[in-house]
Amino acid sequence: MDETQRALAAAHRHAERYLATITDRPVGTEFDFGALAETLGTLPDTGSDAEEVIDRLAELLEPGIVAMSSPRFFGFVIGGTLPAAMASDWLVSVWDQNTGLLLPTPATTTAENVAGAWLLDLLGLPADASFGFVTGCQMAHWTCLAAARHDVLARVGWDVERKGLVGAPPIRVVAGADRHVTVDRALRYLGIGLEAIEVVPDDDQGRIDIDALGETLSRGNGPTIVCGQAGNINAGAFDDLDAICDAAREVGAWVHVDGAFGLFAAATPEHAPLLKGVERADSWATDAHKLLNVPYDCGFAATAHPESHMAACQVTAAYLERTDTAREPMHFNPEFSRRARSLPVLAALMQLGRTGVEAMVRQMCDAAASFGRRLDAAPDVEVINDVVFDQVLARFRASSGRDKDHDRLTNAVIEAVQREGTCYPTGTSWHGMELMRISVASWRTTEADVERSVDAILRVSADCRADS
Ligand SMILES: *Cc1c(COP(=O)(O)O)cnc(C)c1O
Repeated sequence: MDETQRALAAAHRHAERYLATITDRPVGTEFDFGALAETLGTLPDTGSDAEEVIDRLAELLEPGIVAMSSPRFFGFVIGGTLPAAMASDWLVSVWDQNTGLLLPTPATTTAENVAGAWLLDLLGLPADASFGFVTGCQMAHWTCLAAARHDVLARVGWDVERKGLVGAPPIRVVAGADRHVTVDRALRYLGIGLEAIEVVPDDDQGRIDIDALGETLSRGNGPTIVCGQAGNINAGAFDDLDAICDAAREVGAWVHVDGAFGLFAAATPEHAPLLKGVERADSWATDAHKLLNVPYDCGFAATAHPESHMAACQVTAAYLERTDTAREPMHFNPEFSRRARSLPVLAALMQLGRTGVEAMVRQMCDAAASFGRRLDAAPDVEVINDVVFDQVLARFRASSGRDKDHDRLTNAVIEAVQREGTCYPTGTSWHGMELMRISVASWRTTEADVERSVDAILRVSADCRADS
């Protein structure tokens, strides 16, 4: 075998060994990252055989790999990796197609155009929406809000791509108090700035207060963008998107929806009503690397205004080959060169089909609901949110009954559970409370995993109470 074949065979060997243990290995890890950095040392003067490099990396790094694709990893909103998505991602690297333009990369660009159309269909979004595959939901926000910035300013006669924002009419951004931080980050990158945000209060589940939204919108005028949310990062709650679109339409505002994981509610008939009105929005940002379970990094930006989307992103140069008849990915993305990150999306959708995605999302939500019921039934554990989707927020109540003791106990339980290794929830501060956050986002998570995890959490929390 030549060096390439030996390196790939080594990677395959390590992958198989790792995946063989994925359902049972401890999820968290205690890893000496200082020691790893020391072992790696400084840039070597001379190289090594590729197979040896792979073996060495596997040996050094694997002890520090947190099993994020374990069926019992519940931190952040991560998502596992479906077999076809993972394997096709290997081919993305092997084929190494710079998937920006159709003519030089006809196969991966065409596959991307199909994957985008299938995703729009799955998510219940307009079939003629424009779309781009980006690195994640944050950059999907950037892409959608760049289109929005173009659109709302063009309507008052300002060409932002030519003139920039200096001297431009101000843009109002109206958004909920419990929006995701990446909306703010995208607004910073776009030069709109944080002071442009007019914050609307939220309710006990983190949803935008619709009356307050109406009042806020009526207080000003001019170019306006409203940001709604399908799937609150903590509670999993969905804004009333229909009502947001009604209110925004009255003042001619652009509606952007952060649906990083929540847009996938469209996949099941029992959760789809949470998204009522979503198709009326002007732009949508989501992630395939979360609930669709493709590898990092894969976000998706879609807009109902292809011209504005293109005005914000399109690029031409004399040396680029291009067609005028087909969709060119480069015109809908912030990146120039890019990998064919949409191929794992196509592969995942081919593996599961519409009914398979439905079953997967249902399994995640059923697991979250079961978590909620089991934890809430335990003495001195309180589930804080309505478990409407895949997120659960739990608080561990201390015997003193004091808030600060609940907070301290809850944080101690989270840390101890992560150390114990059966499962891996993470924490959050929300509505003045320290809480355990459980997000079910992997195709591998079964009811048995929930049972095993709840047992571990309750066992560990009893120890924490005894210690305190
Ligand atoms: C994860 C998430 C984001 C950010 O997505 P990235 O893919 O990490 O950029 C934005 N909004 C919500 C609601 C999220 O859950």
